[in-house]
Amino acid sequence: EAKRQGKNRFDFFTEKMQLQSINRLEMEMDLHQAINNHSGLVLHYQPQISYDGSIVGVEALVRWNHPTKGLLYPDSFIPLAEETGLIIPLGDWVTLTACKQNIQWQKSGYPPMRISVNLSVKQFQNPHLLQNIQSILQKTGLPPHLLELEITETVAISHADLTLSLLNSLRSIGVRLALDDFGVGYSSFMYLRSFPIDILKIDKSFIRDITLNQESQAIIQAILQVAKSLRFKVVAEGVETSEQLASLKKLDCPIMQGYLFSRPVPADKIDIFLQGKNQWNY
Ligand code: C2E
Ligand code: MG
Ligand code: MG
Ligand code: MG
Repeated sequence: EAKRQGKNRFDFFTEKMQLQSINRLEMEMDLHQAINNHSGLVLHYQPQISYDGSIVGVEALVRWNHPTKGLLYPDSFIPLAEETGLIIPLGDWVTLTACKQNIQWQKSGYPPMRISVNLSVKQFQNPHLLQNIQSILQKTGLPPHLLELEITETVAISHADLTLSLLNSLRSIGVRLALDDFGVGYSSFMYLRSFPIDILKIDKSFIRDITLNQESQAIIQAILQVAKSLRFKVVAEGVETSEQLASLKKLDCPIMQGYLFSRPVPADKIDIFLQGKNQWNY
């Protein structure tokens, strides 16, 4: 009896596992198709606002309009893309699309602004990364300094030597580098000194807590001070409330991004920011 129960339980688990792997396989095939046919993948853009209320850049964030599951956010398919290697063509599509869009805005007569894209560790380990970025810049004609690549600390500290030379090469062609989600994980001021980055993005967890505790405020203040002396730009991520904005203003934080200003939106919704109709006084 016990044995039969055990076996049933085993069957139950294998069935569940089979379903999971079928679902995964389906998702993988769907994603493959979406990338190959350029169908269903979209970029949304979130403005970055400077202290004077003007838009200085946008971050491109990928979404997938799945044929049956609806609009999917990166956390639900980027890991799969990374495991299957699909992140390479997906990442190239993201960068190309973002650069094209930025050129489009410029052609419409808006002042030049930076566009940033997120790079995964896997893209960083791809020996063709530099070449891919260069050919996208060439193809689109986007001035390199208007492209910003966001990497996380995990990327920055993995394979330190290799990473360092790749970062230096990317920078030597003129693209800007940002360290995303700074302050979580293994953040250290020590390697900030040695990494050739231009921009620090303070993780949203600190911004969330800024009005709740002194410690978060002190950490943000310290990051801003170090960034200033190392000549990095700083972006505060995840600004949601006017109280948070007021605190950041008091600390002289130069650039902000978050739902308070705008959620990530389709390209045409960015126009109102570019037309200067959406200014914040603070
Ligand atoms: P991230 O690069 O740190 O992007 C910021 C995330 O915070 C975005 O989530 C954005 O929608 C969200 N966010 C912005 N403002 C606020 C706010 O005020 N409050 C809160 N709670 N959240 C805010 P999203 O779009 O779901 O992206 C999640 C992560 O997925 C990104 O984090 C990034 O690491 C990754 N990702 C997005 N697009 C790409 C891509 O094209 N390639 C790669 N490799 N990763 C991507
Ligand atoms: Mg980012
Ligand atoms: Mg971030
Ligand atoms: Mg993140």
